[in-house]
Amino acid sequence: MELSITTLADRITNESEAYLFMEQLRWGDTPFCPHCGSTAVNYIRPLNGVSRKTRTGAASQRRVWKCQACPGRKQFSALTGTIFHGSKVSVRKWLFVFFEVCSSKNGVAAREIERKYDLTAKTAWFMLHRIREAMKRDPLVGMLSGTIVADETFVGGKPKNRHRSRREQDNVIVPAQPGIDVGNIKTDKTAVFSLVDKATGEVRSRVVPDVSGASLRKAMADQVDFARSHLETDGWKAYKGIGTEFASHQAVDHTAGEYVRGTVSTNMAEGYFSQLKRSIDGTHHHVSVEHLHRYLAEFDYRYTTRKLSDTTRMRTLMGQVGDRRLTYRPIVTGQGWSTPESNRNS
Ligand SMILES: [Zn+2]
Repeated sequence: MELSITTLADRITNESEAYLFMEQLRWGDTPFCPHCGSTAVNYIRPLNGVSRKTRTGAASQRRVWKCQACPGRKQFSALTGTIFHGSKVSVRKWLFVFFEVCSSKNGVAAREIERKYDLTAKTAWFMLHRIREAMKRDPLVGMLSGTIVADETFVGGKPKNRHRSRREQDNVIVPAQPGIDVGNIKTDKTAVFSLVDKATGEVRSRVVPDVSGASLRKAMADQVDFARSHLETDGWKAYKGIGTEFASHQAVDHTAGEYVRGTVSTNMAEGYFSQLKRSIDGTHHHVSVEHLHRYLAEFDYRYTTRKLSDTTRMRTLMGQVGDRRLTYRPIVTGQGWSTPESNRNS
């Protein structure tokens, strides 16, 4: 059945139902131990039908399982070892927010989650970043090959600088660091580079320091099997050198008004960028440079899975919530982060 926020609300009216639903999404009909992977597990019925107590003394609706294979027979729940682990937010709210993120086209703003689900700004912000953590590409995933579109763009920055683009600036390289002056250009925009596999529609994006040939080559080298790939780009000169390392390289000349030539075009990348920018400007209003890679993970995931239904996307993403536990610390420290409240839109 296709889910919607309404059907979800009908189906999950309390924590106990939320746990059951979470178990269904994560395990299907075969629960397994998150510590050892064994399916030799038993549900632990609350003693004498009485609910377990939470720390505050209220009846807990948490569903607990026990592994028969682990030494010491470890206990666990559907949340153990996942992005949901250790959170004080109810499983019910988690499921709603998770579904909202999976079903929105332009992303969901932390402020909207805060208001709708009666959470603090900090909690809403953190939940969304945890979900993005699950959307990150598996680092062990293989190299792209086939017909690959490469393109780059600039995002963010203050509105007064938004008319700036490197194309207007006659081949001047714009650095990603905010506020750095290069010749007559001052930019606070960040360069984003994307690769699109034309056959599968998979997109892989990253923040790059600049759009020079060296930087773009570096961004491609660990993602694309050059010899087995055909590169399609626009006429940006940085691609000329890299192009010779590919099986072939075709470029459309945007400056001459050429956007499609036969099957060659960068339209898929352009489509991705326009949606990314719409979301950053419209939904999130501003994304700080240090968090941009998390949003790119979200948009790559959304674009790559765009042909799936919302329900299938949710189920697919549920398959990635384990072993990606993210504590608050790695996000907030060492990245110029002060408090979530001061950056609530980013
Ligand atoms: Zn086990």
